[in-house]
Amino acid sequence: MKFRSVKGTKDILPPESFLWQHTEEMIRGVMHTFNYREIRTPVFEETALFARGIGELTDIVGKEMYTFTDRSMTRLTLKPEMTASVVRAYIQNNMGEQSSLVKVYYLSPMFRQERPQAGRLRQFHQYGAEAIGGGSYTIDADIIALAVSVLGGAGITGCSVRINSVGCENCRPAYREKLKKFLRPKLDNLSEESRARFDLNVMRILDTKNENDRKLAAGAPLIKDNLCEECDSHFTGLRETLRELKIDAEVDGTIVRGLDYYTKTAFEITSPDLGSQDALVGGGRYDLLVSELGGKPTPAVGFAAGMERLLMVMQKQSSRETPLPAPAIFIAAADEPGRKWALAATMDARRAGVAAETDFLGRSLKSQMREADRQKALFAIVVGRTEIETGKGVLKDMRAGTETPVELDALATHVRQMTGAADSADASDTVHGPGKSAHRIKR
Ligand code: AMP
Repeated sequence: MKFRSVKGTKDILPPESFLWQHTEEMIRGVMHTFNYREIRTPVFEETALFARGIGELTDIVGKEMYTFTDRSMTRLTLKPEMTASVVRAYIQNNMGEQSSLVKVYYLSPMFRQERPQAGRLRQFHQYGAEAIGGGSYTIDADIIALAVSVLGGAGITGCSVRINSVGCENCRPAYREKLKKFLRPKLDNLSEESRARFDLNVMRILDTKNENDRKLAAGAPLIKDNLCEECDSHFTGLRETLRELKIDAEVDGTIVRGLDYYTKTAFEITSPDLGSQDALVGGGRYDLLVSELGGKPTPAVGFAAGMERLLMVMQKQSSRETPLPAPAIFIAAADEPGRKWALAATMDARRAGVAAETDFLGRSLKSQMREADRQKALFAIVVGRTEIETGKGVLKDMRAGTETPVELDALATHVRQMTGAADSADASDTVHGPGKSAHRIKR
């Protein structure tokens, strides 16, 4: 029997896994410059956390969660998003007592049973950030600037930042009635999905992808024009701050987001290079969630973005090359004594922080050299009885094709000098630094 990966899931193989690592490192770097710290939460949580946190009526909770009952009959769910988990951890670990503004970021797999299509997976990965404890629009601006900076770090251009305010519990009820009044005469012509939303969450009709529904909803009153004084001044403050920070953000009154917990700011960043699933980043403020999940009332704001989609846009747009890790030296053996020596010298080089490889398959010398070439080793050396006896060998620069005599005793030191690497015990610094490897793939 042959097994295949489950529908909607993907293997990330080398060298693609290296692009992931490289991108993840960039994301961590940007997060750290914004003073966000990493949080890791379990892959599964009690189902009730998501049902309560995200909202029973959302698509995620209604039809997309991977939920199961374990042997002790506890209902568990693989996390479909991170905010509810972060807030649970924040409350459980009294994080608010350590700091009045907790800034955390994450990189994590998420699980949603959606219809698989381009840009939509069942196990996908998100990076994101949450700032818990501050109600000021300046933190919304911090979060948006952070999301934009990560895209900048990825070398992506042409994205649109769209912002809206979805109001609060004070201004939303009256607005909902106003919207219902506008939509009621068109109800029979709306899609089944929008008809269902009419009673459950009427604002989400504005967020529909259905073209006919969009036309029918055109001209509907928008929440941004029906905000209470507090939400209105928050939204004005955010727009001004973004302008001062030179972040181009367009106001789009139709953004409502598919999760129930948003209050005030909601935003999306889209890329024309993504096709129909064009959302790269989604986020907003969720001032009621902490108290909803049992904590003290605490304002908060955050964003989440799809790693697969980020990489997709990077691959489409970028002409930048990502250096791939490659052995700094391939030590080939010419005969049996050479094999023994090569294995020991490979281990020595590695201990000295130099990425080294040798042959483990008893290959001919010719095929060892072909392998060194295939692996894009920077240098190669052939060692046999003669080299061992004289203590001397010839180091071949695989890119330039030049050859340099070397003392075998000092092989690792030579390679280190030739690769221009710093004298460091950290292997990644020593030989993997960007630009040091000959092996590059074009995205
Ligand atoms: P959301 O949590 O639904 O606001 O999604 C935030 C971001 O996660 C989206 O903008 C996408 O980039 C990404 N995303 C959401 N669902 C999926 C999925 N099924 N497959 C891949 N990426 C996704």
